Amino acid sequence: MKRKWGILVYFLCLTLAFFARKPLVQAMTVMSDRTLNGTYIVIDAGHGGNDPGARVDGQDEDEINLDLSKKLAVILEKAGATVELIRSDDYDLADENANNIKRSDMKHRADVINQNHVTLFVSIHCNTSADQRCSGSQVYYRKEDENSRKLADQIQHRLKDITESNYIPASADFYLLNETETLGVLVEAGFMTNSKDLNKLQDENYRANLAYAIYLGIHDFLEILL
Ligand SMILES: [Zn+2]
Repeated sequence: MKRKWGILVYFLCLTLAFFARKPLVQAMTVMSDRTLNGTYIVIDAGHGGNDPGARVDGQDEDEINLDLSKKLAVILEKAGATVELIRSDDYDLADENANNIKRSDMKHRADVINQNHVTLFVSIHCNTSADQRCSGSQVYYRKEDENSRKLADQIQHRLKDITESNYIPASADFYLLNETETLGVLVEAGFMTNSKDLNKLQDENYRANLAYAIYLGIHDFLEILL
């Protein structure tokens, strides 16, 4: 009898270990969300192609940005939004013969965001700092844009739960915020220069949780504030 219980407990532990390893978002079912139905959301995975973004301990920023963006896209689509990923692989959007590759790349990203039918956009990045103690996520909004600030507030609030970030949203001179008119924010998911943050950003489950938190922030904004 004892042996039977032992086997049962063993299999129970195996099952628990299996689900514990699965990304949270895969393990939970993202339900259709009437708040997101009919919305068109653009996700900009920062950098890519010629521009890897920050590079710390052999880790390129553009890879983290892309995976987090794809995870967010899956959740938003399950929730009922139409999603456009500005890039879905390791490439940039610069014209082949562009004199200034970065400018050409950013111009094309802004063009996607500025399409009339876009409800909102989220640009995904990771941060760096000379001060390695800096950690946590921070959401940036467009200067003097009340809705952008409110969207940033909601996403920051949700991210706070999992990133232990004490930051509050801030406005900043980011090209995609300055050169677009569509409602949107830029999310710095964490600091690659902080070893604890970098470890977390490299973890599949953590990225899934970040994506889910960003989705919840978008939901909260659309539900409460529009
Ligand atoms: Zn970046």
